[in-house]
Amino acid sequence: MPVSPDEYRLMDVQQGGCCFYCGEPVGAKATFDHLIPLAYGGLDAAPNVVLAHRRCNQRKADRLPTPEEIDRFVTQRRRSQLGVWPPLLALRDAEPGDEWITVARAIAGL
Ligand SMILES: [Zn+2]
Repeated sequence: MPVSPDEYRLMDVQQGGCCFYCGEPVGAKATFDHLIPLAYGGLDAAPNVVLAHRRCNQRKADRLPTPEEIDRFVTQRRRSQLGVWPPLLALRDAEPGDEWITVARAIAGL
């Protein structure tokens, strides 16, 4: 379980009870989506996780989040103890075409 019950409640409040991707109410059927996918070394903890419908989570699959999505995430997490995983900030500022290498370097701490 990457997210504690307290963290889950905080996420639900910050997202206004809605799915991160489609903005529709998500309720008790929320799934945990990793903004930077696990397959690419994404952190399995709250600073890299949002609540999403199962279908929206599956649709996102293993793509990286867009700069708009990262900005929205950062705004939701402002003044929150849940935090933002630093590689997401590096990705937001990546040059177009350099997204993957930027993420890999940020995760490696280079
Ligand atoms: Zn959704």
